[in-house]
Amino acid sequence: MVFPLKSLDQIQIGITEDHELLRQSVREFSEKFLLPNVDKGEKEKDFPEEAKKQAADMGLFGLDIPSEYGGQGADYLSLLVTSEEISRIWTSFSTLLLVHWMLGRAVLKYGSEEVKRKYLPEIASGKKLGGFANTEPEAGSDVAGIKSVAKKVNDHYVLNGRKIFITNGDIADYLIITARTSPPDPKARWKGISMFLVERDWGIKTMSRIETTGLRASHTAEIVLEDVSVPSENLLGEEGMGFKYAVESFDYARTIVSAQAVGIAQSAFEKLVEYSLQRKAFERPIADFQMVQQKVSESLSDLMTSRLLTYWAGTLYQKEMMDEYIVAASLAKFHSTEAAERVVLRAMTAFGGYGVTVSTGLERLLRDLQILKTYEGTNDIQRISAARQLFYRFKGVKVG
Ligand SMILES: Cc1cc2nc3c(=O)[nH]c(=O)nc-3n(C[C@H](O)[C@H](O)[C@H](O)COP(=O)(O)OP(=O)(O)OC[C@H]3O[C@@H](n4cnc5c(N)ncnc54)[C@H](O)[C@@H]3O)c2cc1C
Repeated sequence: MVFPLKSLDQIQIGITEDHELLRQSVREFSEKFLLPNVDKGEKEKDFPEEAKKQAADMGLFGLDIPSEYGGQGADYLSLLVTSEEISRIWTSFSTLLLVHWMLGRAVLKYGSEEVKRKYLPEIASGKKLGGFANTEPEAGSDVAGIKSVAKKVNDHYVLNGRKIFITNGDIADYLIITARTSPPDPKARWKGISMFLVERDWGIKTMSRIETTGLRASHTAEIVLEDVSVPSENLLGEEGMGFKYAVESFDYARTIVSAQAVGIAQSAFEKLVEYSLQRKAFERPIADFQMVQQKVSESLSDLMTSRLLTYWAGTLYQKEMMDEYIVAASLAKFHSTEAAERVVLRAMTAFGGYGVTVSTGLERLLRDLQILKTYEGTNDIQRISAARQLFYRFKGVKVG
């Protein structure tokens, strides 16, 4: 035993030739349809319709939804590959997909057959856009602290509450909403939360679009639910089990965020290498200087450790090795987002004065990373969670 692993062969990465082919086609898409639009999109805080349409035509919106519901039936590693490649060019766009995938997964995993048949085809085709609304003004890390309520009235639930920082919040056609169907039990606060699939037209109102430092094209919004009537069949899974479903949804999303960070690190690393060869100082390319070489090798180390951790975690997820996955996903998320930040900072330093200009695109990467370190569980929470889960799952001891 190589604690906490059972054996060394648990360190495997299941990337295949198909993943490489997917990567190539996503890169082609990103360079052709996203790259020319990044600056304008971030400035105008929106995505071009053409890029969304192309992504939909490629099947990216329904990548991991089974073909019987209109999706591509791809595996989890395919989501990571796609997320990495898109983030190499435009992280805001990969965030649009991330929350859409979260909605698709929740419907697939917890929805009844009737709900799946009704909603998944248009989610998979990208005809309808999704979002995932859990965070509230007074409850983010503390998922069990949500106060939105869902009251059963005959064959409907009536939802009231507020959700904040919701990606796609002002544009999603469908949203996953968590709400309390019973008050918190002081001994088990997580109990009594339920999960719903809610159509925007049923009365979800946008309170405001929130301006953020990074991911500026991404639509982050505060939404309000005032007597929103949701048919009982749109309760996902069992009443009262929404906390568990939400946490599982974040587990799914966490490594996708890690892959976003790998894409950012890749982008900054490529810029660092190119610039070191092209820029001359003292009549020599700066790549000749050992302090620049150090930046290159340390950045490659950060990039590769992040990529290995991310795809290893993804492989564990695919193999349904959840004990190992839960720990690996937290490690991957905090490591990759912070390693990417180091790579970007080194690149900015190597760029000298040009490093702080907006036109290099490097400062955008830093701003985006600050959000990646925050959403889907802050990095501090990941550090705590990795240790707690390690004690619990591998030593049988509940700490903290
Ligand atoms: C751009 C953006 C997009 C987002 N998109 C979505 C979305 O689509 N859907 C959604 O539901 N949410 C979304 N979020 C919300 C995000 O997941 C939360 O902001 C995040 O989980 C942190 O919650 P909070 O903001 O309430 O911070 P808090 O939970 O109040 O945390 C504040 C600080 O305290 C620390 N802290 C909290 N608890 C502990 C603890 N127990 N131990 C140690 N430190 C602790 C945190 O690490 C943090 O540093 C988004 C956020 C942003 C910024």
